[in-house]
Order: sequence, then structure tokens, then C-alpha cells
Amino acid sequence: MQRRDFLKTAATATAGAAILGTAGSCSTGNKNIPSPYIVSGKPRMKLSFFPYELQLQHVFTVASYSRTTTPDVQVEIEYDGFVGYGEASMPPYLGQTVESVTTFLQKVNLEQFSDPFQMDDILTYVDSLSPGDAAAKAAVDIALHDLVGKLLGAPWYRIWGLNPEKAPNTTFTIGIDTPDVVREKTRECADKFKILKVKVGLDNDYEMIETIREITDLPIAVDANQGWTNKEKALEEIFWLKEHGIVMVEQPMPKEMIDDIAWIRERSPLPIYADEAIQRLADIPSIKGAYDGINIKLMKCTGMREGWKMANYARAEGMRVMVGCMTETSCACSAAAQFSPVVDFADLDGNLLISNDRFTGMTVVDGKITLPDRPGIGVIKL
Ligand SMILES: [Mg+2]
Repeated sequence: MQRRDFLKTAATATAGAAILGTAGSCSTGNKNIPSPYIVSGKPRMKLSFFPYELQLQHVFTVASYSRTTTPDVQVEIEYDGFVGYGEASMPPYLGQTVESVTTFLQKVNLEQFSDPFQMDDILTYVDSLSPGDAAAKAAVDIALHDLVGKLLGAPWYRIWGLNPEKAPNTTFTIGIDTPDVVREKTRECADKFKILKVKVGLDNDYEMIETIREITDLPIAVDANQGWTNKEKALEEIFWLKEHGIVMVEQPMPKEMIDDIAWIRERSPLPIYADEAIQRLADIPSIKGAYDGINIKLMKCTGMREGWKMANYARAEGMRVMVGCMTETSCACSAAAQFSPVVDFADLDGNLLISNDRFTGMTVVDGKITLPDRPGIGVIKL
């Protein structure tokens, strides 16, 4: 049997074992570690993609809009019998659409590369094709990581040297709504999660928190989504939130009001995280000092390569790190979860908010992110 065929058989056996829930037969387990995949230079990577509209389980409301679906494009990279899966999810506020993503993906020519392991060359080329299109770039990046992990027979947390046991609890998000709906949603999730994330930033913040506190004492992260516009009032609210068991504040004010945010951060009893204010690695220096931490999302930062760099750079600058997501399938969530063992907070519930997931991958067990012991990003198509 050629080495390549052996690896394919090993990958299939792993997937089968995972489906059956058999223990100890994983390709990353001691005796079954496959030899490194050898690139022959003959096969070429083939990129394919199709639109896939995500159906949300509930109407989702944040400070700036409400919606019931999220546009999404699913991506595959095929190479020598292996398939890497990726995804672009496009919440409307980022300005990308199914059309812009497919237009971008049509420009991507992966067939010019003979070695998928040269990820830096490949992803630098993909990034050079346009100044924006972060979600489309993330889709290619995730699919390439999945492919390369499968060729190596190892999950990315393992390639990066991370301990999956250190993956944190994920927050579960409760959107802005009426007290009755908030009560119902809180009851639904209170015993499944160890920490909640609550959207604030309209005029019912105190009511939202008080309603949730009728049901549960779980720690809460709040996300104002730039909704507060007065720094004194925001700070006063943050002190009140601290008294009510809130543990962090995400994007308190519009990202342009960076001096006001820095003013809040200096006085705040809770750590302040940047979300809308930070997209990519190169943005970190410009927000340093105004925020305690950054929220890394693959759809903003072009994928796992840059997300991992951002986590390391932020740490080196003494900043805190969280990993977040959009509403997306288990594909992109499982990709982001690969570096979750190094973060302070994780908000990887996007796959739980949709009713038409295409994959199974990272799961939440007793509130904690659980990384599958499967190669690449660890997903199996449903
Ligand atoms: Mg946010």
C-alpha cells in the first residue's frame, strides 16, 4: 500500500471510529501516528464553493439590527483524495455578501501551487487578491488548514502544541429582547452553560440583567456592540454591572470614540475588550492602551493563520484574548476552537444558534468547549 493510500485508510478509520464513539483508535493516538505525508507534486488543489443560507433558531437582536438568517458560503479544497472544509459567514454589518464572496473566490487559483504545506505562500497570495474580503479569505484559510491537518493526520490544537483540556467554557449569547423572551431563553440555557453573554446597548440594559438574575447567578459577559455613547453613563453602568456578577465588557462605545473608551478603561472595575474596533493583526497597535483585550474572530481576521498570530501578539503586548464567532456552522466554530486553549474567554456558540448545521465538530460539554480528536479542524459532514 502506498503511504498516501495508507493515510486515506487511516483517516477513514478515524472518522468511522469517531462516529461509533470507539475509544483509543484515533490517528493521533500513540501507535497509529501516520508517517508524514509526502507531496509528490502531481495532484493539484481544487477549490469549490456554494452559497448556504444559515437559518437562525431565534430572531437575533443586537444594538444595531435584528435578523433571522445569515448569508454564508461553504468552501471545499480537494487534494489527492482529501477534502478540507471552510466557510465564509457574512453578518450584514461587515459589508460582505454571497455575491462579493463568490466573486472573490472565483479569482482564487490554487492550482498554481503544488504543495499545500506551503500555507504561508498560498495564504499570502490569497490575501493579496483584494484589500478586504476577510470572510472569503477566512473560508479558504480554514479549508486549507483542515486539508493540511488531514494530510498530517493531526488536529490543529495539537500541531500548535496546545492542551485541549485547557479549552475554556464558552459563553452562550442572549440577544436583546422583551423580559418574557429573555426569561425563556435564560431558562433554556442556564443549566447547559457556565457563563452567559448578554447583548446590551439599547435602553433596557438594567432590565435585561435584572430579568436574567431572576433565573440564574451564572457569570455574565456583556457586549454593548458600540451602543453606549456617553462615557460617564457607561462607566456608571459598568460599576452597576460589576455588582451584578458581570465579568467583562465588550465594545462599550463606537470604535471611533477611542479616547472615551480609554477613559473608561482607566477607571473600569471590569476588563474592556475590543470587537468592532479590531479586525486584523495590524490593528492591534492602534487600539493598545484603550482596551484590555481583543476579540479574535476568523471572519474578521482572514482565518486561523492570522487569528493564531493575533493571539500570540496580543499576549506579547500584555493584552487579554478572547475568541468569538459569527452565526456560522460547526465548520468555522471548530476552526476557531483550535486555539481556544490559550484564550481568557471564548464565545463560540454560533453553531448552536442555527437550525441547519452541516457539520459536527467542537461540542459543548457541561459548558466547556470540547475539541474532537480528529485531524484538521475536526469536523465531520452530517
Ligand atoms: Mg461583539
